[in-house]
Amino acid sequence: MTPPSANTLKDSVSSVESFTKIDKATPSASTKASESILKYTALDDIPVGVKKLTDSFHKNGKTHSIQYRLNQLRNLYFVIKDNQDAICDALFKDFGRVPTESQILEIDGSLNELVHTMANLHNWLKPEPVKDLPITLKSNPIYIERIPYGVVLIISPFNYPFFLSFSAIIGAIAAGNVVVFKPSELTPHFSQLFTNLLSEALDDDLLFTINGSIPETTKALEQKYDKIMYTGNNAVGTIIAKKAAETLTPVILELGGKSPAFVLDDLSEKELTVVARRIAWGRFTNAGQTCVAVDYVLAHDSIKERLVREIVKVVKEEFYPELNKDNKDFTHIIHDRAVSNLSKIIKTTKGKIVVGGDVDEASRYVAPTVVDNVDWDDSTMKGEIFGPILPILSYSSLDEALSRLQSRHDTPLAQYIFTGGSTSRAKNPKLNKISQQIRSGGAVINDVLMHVALTNAPFGGIGSSGSGSYHGWFSFRAFTHERTTMEQKLWNDFVLKARYPPFTEKNQKLVSASQTDYNGKVWFDRQGDVRVKGPSGLFSTWTSVAGVAALIYYFVGNL
Ligand code: NAD
Repeated sequence: MTPPSANTLKDSVSSVESFTKIDKATPSASTKASESILKYTALDDIPVGVKKLTDSFHKNGKTHSIQYRLNQLRNLYFVIKDNQDAICDALFKDFGRVPTESQILEIDGSLNELVHTMANLHNWLKPEPVKDLPITLKSNPIYIERIPYGVVLIISPFNYPFFLSFSAIIGAIAAGNVVVFKPSELTPHFSQLFTNLLSEALDDDLLFTINGSIPETTKALEQKYDKIMYTGNNAVGTIIAKKAAETLTPVILELGGKSPAFVLDDLSEKELTVVARRIAWGRFTNAGQTCVAVDYVLAHDSIKERLVREIVKVVKEEFYPELNKDNKDFTHIIHDRAVSNLSKIIKTTKGKIVVGGDVDEASRYVAPTVVDNVDWDDSTMKGEIFGPILPILSYSSLDEALSRLQSRHDTPLAQYIFTGGSTSRAKNPKLNKISQQIRSGGAVINDVLMHVALTNAPFGGIGSSGSGSYHGWFSFRAFTHERTTMEQKLWNDFVLKARYPPFTEKNQKLVSASQTDYNGKVWFDRQGDVRVKGPSGLFSTWTSVAGVAALIYYFVGNL
């Protein structure tokens, strides 16, 4: 299919002067409101669409061609490049998303990842030779091929609906799969536009979009896939994992969590200002609806007051001098239920609100809110906030803070550590302790969020924040099966025949010698420390020579 020309679709979504609220007061109102903008897929069409795609993967085999994959990815590039403003407009209509946030946090990085994928795909597809083969197999071609899974289901959330979908879709297509895609119904303007763009750009043998809410997703999950990727909340993640287990379908789960920011006691006055700015950005971007947002701060007693003062200053004087619902640089909340949950958290906190606290339900605005003097049992600390509320806790004993964290919000999606000391773990014991004791999906020292934007580094959670990872090469890996392939000769059975019955002692010695590393010797004793760098060069050389000699001896004796 030819990619749509510039602005054809852009014009289909008119630019908006101001954010207009659609009714999403209850789940059913939300569905109705969404359905009036987004064309839901008829339930009966879902099995038909998935079957058509499955047949296409198995029968026409188009996706095995790198040329086909690259041409499809090229189409995607242009359709997005030409419709960036329309995407920003749609997201603004959906939840008052600040267009600059859409541009820099969703579109720019996604296009970059696409270009990176296209530039590298020919290398990623090269079979990878297997190293360290036993001597008897050294001359055989043995390699890892990365083959497509087949039919991949990708289910995306509302909060970064373009970036989180697009990145997964390009990985799956680059890897040679066909894709069933389910965008979020909570961003109906965006999801309708994106559905149109995808169907204009891509071969309909390659991608099938399912739109709708729970019934449509449930129907989609009743079909058989070869891999499922779900990004969203943990409760639905559990439903998906259970459903996938029924057919032994592998899943990638990109979930949420409560990501802490530690602020150590070694920061100067000037450094604390920078830290405050970064933390405020990490919390209030996209009105806090970011999976890796700074969910709460753990500041050392000695700097906590100064830090709070600086964060308040940043919020009031630098980021949002006009702290009200009409601020054009501040995004609104996705739906009324989320507003009411956030409002409840604010109303019931036992901490001290030092900035913000206002909620305007009519426009789904929750002010950037900083809560000081928070303790672990506060309303702000029950679960992932996913909104513009920043609780600040202080600690005097790092060990105690770590153990509280581990017992409540273990395995967050990200952890942030701010230190004025060395960023080398060997030289900064506190930094080392935190990063060792808190297992997290990602970790950033002295900054926030930025690891997600890396084109070619694995992004994913651990434990309750998810499993599996993607982006760039790691998406390609996530959507391919690593198949070990071995080529053998048919003329060399005289070399291999020792493995066949009847089993004799000589045969067994020959087979054992042919598959034993280091001629069956080891370089470590029963007691004492094991050499960290493995066997010495001398040991390796000696045992290899002895191994070859043993092999020849048994082989000749066996002739
Ligand atoms: P959402 O409500 O848009 O839901 C995500 C998807 O799940 C949608 O496509 C929706 O239709 C589907 N869905 C909802 N209920 C379902 C059900 N009962 N059965 C089947 N499918 C269902 O988004 P959300 O889940 O509210 O997103 C916010 C959460 O996602 C937060 O917890 C956030 O931390 C997490 N998140 C994680 C990442 C990550 O990369 N790890 C990224 C973004 C968001």
